[in-house]
Amino acid sequence: MPSSDAQLPVGRLAPSPTGLLHLGHARSFLLAWLWSRARGGRVVLRMEDLDATRAKPELAACALRDLEWLGLDWDGEVLYQSRHHDELRGAAEELCERGLAYPCVCTRREVAEAIAAPHGPGSEGVYPGTCRDRYASLAEARRRTGREPCLRYRVPSGEVTVRDELLGDYVQDVAREVGDFPVTSRDGQVAYQLAVVLDDERQGVTDVLRGEDLLESTPRQALLLEDLWFERPRWAHVPLVTDAKGRRLAKRADDLSLASLAAGGLDPRRLVGWLAGTFGAALAEPGDAPRTPAELVAGFDLARLPRGPVAFDRATRRALGADA
Ligand code: GLU
Repeated sequence: MPSSDAQLPVGRLAPSPTGLLHLGHARSFLLAWLWSRARGGRVVLRMEDLDATRAKPELAACALRDLEWLGLDWDGEVLYQSRHHDELRGAAEELCERGLAYPCVCTRREVAEAIAAPHGPGSEGVYPGTCRDRYASLAEARRRTGREPCLRYRVPSGEVTVRDELLGDYVQDVAREVGDFPVTSRDGQVAYQLAVVLDDERQGVTDVLRGEDLLESTPRQALLLEDLWFERPRWAHVPLVTDAKGRRLAKRADDLSLASLAAGGLDPRRLVGWLAGTFGAALAEPGDAPRTPAELVAGFDLARLPRGPVAFDRATRRALGADA
């Protein structure tokens, strides 16, 4: 249990610069920041820019501006994942050398076709293991097929249980529900599931708070953590912000971005106030009056956060003066 400074929580903000940040991101980031700061912890920032086709430097710069505009800060330098991709790649290859991952030359189409073949219900979307035990090394797979392989993690059978601070235990049979999953892509990039685990460790992250959509990834990450001999962080998954119809906000032009709200002259304290209004009893002084993140820190208690979905509807848009 935390007893010295070295064991204070380390939370993190981990935007992907593949689109503009919206209100859903703002809410998760504010909660991640508060969770750590309220216990005297640190917050680190990581730019998840590994997707070479979708990540853009201008979106990374915009994400940093958005976070500052909201009033969030972070400790130390920003870690750009793309800048140490070789190291991440090395870790993936090490998993292969240890027999924990294997080269797979299947194309997307071949995987889809193999899954469509009669396999019975329940196996939908699960990689059937075509390349498991086929090649002794990456080099052999390349030589024998003339293709560039991806690396797939060899999922052990059995259930994996992860504990979520808000949702309790979450159990998944990864082998049956997900199957062997890629830790690198066929064009050589390290996949999110592995990169997140390696970089949380690199940055000393102890507390991971993120959107509920990532809960189902957590058992995969728990398996990788174990094989890498890393400790599990604490995990907390929070509801996504939806539109009035209950659809989750996406990085689409029509979903309100923080950049457009800022450009429209919105006082960020009003936005933080609205978000605070959705935190209910987690705040020492609940309410949606305009405030800065720093003003929400004292007495923040994640365990009291309301569990329900959060909708950003027209009335809210109007209240924030964002009704274009
Ligand atoms: N970069 C991811 C996102 O923006 C978050 C990944 C994580 O928190 O593990 O959705």
